[in-house]
Amino acid sequence: MKDFKEVLIVAGTHGNELSGLYIEKLIRDKQLNVQRESFTIDTLVANPDAIINNVRFVETDLNRQFGNEKQLLPHSKEKKIAQQLQLKYKNKPKQLVIDLHNTTSRMGATLILLARTPYYERMGAYVKKCMPQANILFENESNWQEHPYLCTMTGSGVMIEVEEQSHGVLTHQSLLLMKKLLLSVLDFIDYENQGLSLSLNDYEAYQLTGEVSFPLDKDGMRLAAVHPTICGLDFTEVKKGEPLLSAFNGLDLYWHGKQSTYPHFINEAAYSTKHIAMALADKINICCTS
Ligand SMILES: [Zn+2]
Repeated sequence: MKDFKEVLIVAGTHGNELSGLYIEKLIRDKQLNVQRESFTIDTLVANPDAIINNVRFVETDLNRQFGNEKQLLPHSKEKKIAQQLQLKYKNKPKQLVIDLHNTTSRMGATLILLARTPYYERMGAYVKKCMPQANILFENESNWQEHPYLCTMTGSGVMIEVEEQSHGVLTHQSLLLMKKLLLSVLDFIDYENQGLSLSLNDYEAYQLTGEVSFPLDKDGMRLAAVHPTICGLDFTEVKKGEPLLSAFNGLDLYWHGKQSTYPHFINEAAYSTKHIAMALADKINICCTS
């Protein structure tokens, strides 16, 4: 059992992802009740300059400035923000960070968990119980200290990634999904703090395995697009021998793995400059019944 005394809800890590910013406003305006008995809540708007400019970041991605990752722009505005946050929050072992994000991919409501511990596995089970349509995505390919994400700045954190929503746009649906997922996570933390024994079920989740990049020509232009059979179909099964990309020369690029894969972050706009077509995951079974 974990006992978190504080929960920090972070919005605006990416300045053009509006759902989190409006969730934070609703909390400030007391139109969204996030108070729970067993912990205190604080909120943080992480990158105000990026928000004013309606951009993901000003100089470099704030959500890649943590952990041990080598940075291309060590003196950037965002690196400074990251250093200030690390200084402020480093001695908070009893704090859990919830970082709120939007995606342009059709990922519905996705809870991203960066470690596969019994606590996070149970959190996923509780979220599935409240929101059967939610996706639970484990990205535990790295040690906690190596993750570059803001939510790792203390010892515990998760990311909420919602919908297909264009940057700079706020949809009613994405706000609703984010609200529901956030409240489920807060309820889970509260119940665990109180030592309540929750009745949880086994569930299917996803585990990140890698990424697929677009092939490029000598000028850095793409030679393929996401295959039409999977475009907009995040977390849909792709079997061995089925296509992932459609090349402009008429040939398809196929999935060759031994088992099926589940593409997500398909055509995510924020990954466009890196020419990342999608991320891939395995489907896994999480056992929460004893
Ligand atoms: Zn984001």
